[in-house]
Amino acid sequence: MGEKVSIILTSYNKPAYLQKAIESVIKQTYDLWELFIMDDHSNEEITAVVHKYLHDPRIRYENSFVDPAARFKTTRYATLINTALPFTSGDYISYLTDDTVYHPERLSRMVQMFSHNPEAQAVYSKQKVVQVNERGEEISHFYRNANEVLHQAAFQVDHCSVMHRRSLLDRIHHIYGSYWDDDMKHWNHGDSIFWDRINNFAPFLPINEVLDTTYKTPDSFQNAYRFLPADLIDGSFVKGSGQNVYFIDQGVRHPVGERWDSLYLNRTVAVPDPYLFQYKIGNILKIPNYILVKEAGHPAIFYIEAGKKRRILGQYAFQFYQFKRKEILTIEKEELEALPEGLPITRERSGLIENPPGRRLYFIEREPFLFLNGVFHPIREQVVRKFFLHHKPISASFRNIQQFPIGKPFYPVYDEIIKNLNIAIE
Ligand code: UDP
Ligand code: MG
Repeated sequence: MGEKVSIILTSYNKPAYLQKAIESVIKQTYDLWELFIMDDHSNEEITAVVHKYLHDPRIRYENSFVDPAARFKTTRYATLINTALPFTSGDYISYLTDDTVYHPERLSRMVQMFSHNPEAQAVYSKQKVVQVNERGEEISHFYRNANEVLHQAAFQVDHCSVMHRRSLLDRIHHIYGSYWDDDMKHWNHGDSIFWDRINNFAPFLPINEVLDTTYKTPDSFQNAYRFLPADLIDGSFVKGSGQNVYFIDQGVRHPVGERWDSLYLNRTVAVPDPYLFQYKIGNILKIPNYILVKEAGHPAIFYIEAGKKRRILGQYAFQFYQFKRKEILTIEKEELEALPEGLPITRERSGLIENPPGRRLYFIEREPFLFLNGVFHPIREQVVRKFFLHHKPISASFRNIQQFPIGKPFYPVYDEIIKNLNIAIE
């Protein structure tokens, strides 16, 4: 008998990719393995995919049936892995996510590495990372190298590029009281936290060959977490891992109907479900705030804010606030009439800024700010891009805006969490 590898594949709602991931295990040149498909209560499409493979006695499947309210309490893949680990019977453990494929030699090369290095506890290999767009087409790719022995594998090695001895697990559990740390705050780097636990005992030995390819989709958690501020910016179109797009209005998310397709198609911000689900669901969106509207055949242009229509008085104001003609939507007369009247948007020649429109960007003494609900918020360039705030910033000085408070900044918070982990990042 040779040595067995236990593979733990975590899955959530990626049917096309999941099928490829499973096939990539079946196509391994090394066939002494068992596969645990740990599904996190996905939709029926996933169940259909998985059932095609269950005749293979090496494949086991478990559905977590996680309650929607509990989904965001832990780092789900770590929770699923912890559930599977006690049932594994392999000599080695290897991890796989549903958007990654193992190359055919993956298991054989890794087992071989262990047999040539009996003292080795963990090995890792080079990975190809492919960024894909909404349609699954490749946009770009890069490689994560594997050319040195790593005493600190955290933030250097991906989830799917590692194999370790099963015997490490008891030692880890003994010290930490768990295998993987599934604390919610590690959602984006739970693997790194576990590598750090392994590194307490042993380094990771490299195999400088590409043995897996991982696909980063636009709504992958890593993309979604990047540059995310503590709060979602009011007036944004957002979506989580599901298909529904929501409009954020004063802390409530409103489902967006097809009517507003043209508005959100190119500016929907992908955010992690845990963030999205903090916002209560409201009614279906009627007229979104922060858009320009007019009635057919009438010259008057209005900016919608807090459910009111604010008339833009004059070309000068229109240009100063960086509005663009092509952004004006024509709506029904009745619809426009039904909206209560807000303060008009004007531009004083004195330079003082009074009652400015909301959700507009400013450059104030070379620093970017976002004006929102009566407050100027410092904002970072990456957040500006993530939230598609792409009009040209309005130039102003602190003197011009002196009557307004400076509020909570929109800075990426996720970077801060990582900084506080006490793990040096390259
Ligand atoms: N996952 C999960 N439950 C969820 C969301 C994700 O088990 O509610 C799993 C998913 O199937 C994958 C892993 O967590 O195996 C990482 O998720 P994803 O690939 O979306 O994140 P990223 O590639 O951005 O790290
Ligand atoms: Mg992934």
